[in-house]
Amino acid sequence: MGYNLILLGPPGAGKGTQAKLLIERYQIPQISTGDILRQAVNEMTPSGVSTKKYMDVGALVPDDLVIDIIKDRLLKPDSANGFILDGFPRTVAQADALSIMLHKAGKSIDHVISMTVDYEELLKRVIGRLTCRECGRGYHLVYDPPAIAGKCTVCSSELYQRDDDREDTMRARLMTYETQTAPLTDYYSSLSLLRPVNGLGSIPEINDSIVRLLEG
Ligand code: AMP
Repeated sequence: MGYNLILLGPPGAGKGTQAKLLIERYQIPQISTGDILRQAVNEMTPSGVSTKKYMDVGALVPDDLVIDIIKDRLLKPDSANGFILDGFPRTVAQADALSIMLHKAGKSIDHVISMTVDYEELLKRVIGRLTCRECGRGYHLVYDPPAIAGKCTVCSSELYQRDDDREDTMRARLMTYETQTAPLTDYYSSLSLLRPVNGLGSIPEINDSIVRLLEG
């Protein structure tokens, strides 16, 4: 059976990595507003053009835009049996909009998995992050380096660093998280949906903690 999940946590907490493992285990899609927005920027769609200026400085794009993206995405049939929201909601306004749209569809969130990692570790993780241009596989210069520098071990394509993973932008993204997104822990805690998970540890260890809290 599937779950309706939110992965909550600062950039670099491991949300994307854990989402990939949960997709395999539960056969439910990952819905990442960051991925959808980056694709719109690459394709230079009208929303992509207006979005880029926010992403480049580590700010949030306007609520209306991401709420519309999520509305469309949640209507697709692949999320009928569950979904993993990764990077959404990021503001209280987005969380309110989400609960209204789910309510209309007769659904609700089952768990908000809140991944915590300290500030210095987040900086280290994100600054070394690399992604394959072709297959999207993620690497890390220190923690998970590719076999050949600069090339994807899976498909041999070029690896790149996200523009917003540079140190100055990352510091701005962490500040944005603290001021605008961190209040969601209280929001979901008061709804008894918050499930804190220690984001420090190996990828399988963290995955085990998440699976244990879902399956009891
Ligand atoms: P991410 O890949 O989740 O770290 O997102 C990268 C960037 O996309 C963020 O720094 C924001 O500029 C933008 N973004 C992603 N999701 C949202 C959201 N839910 N609300 C506002 N901006 C977002």
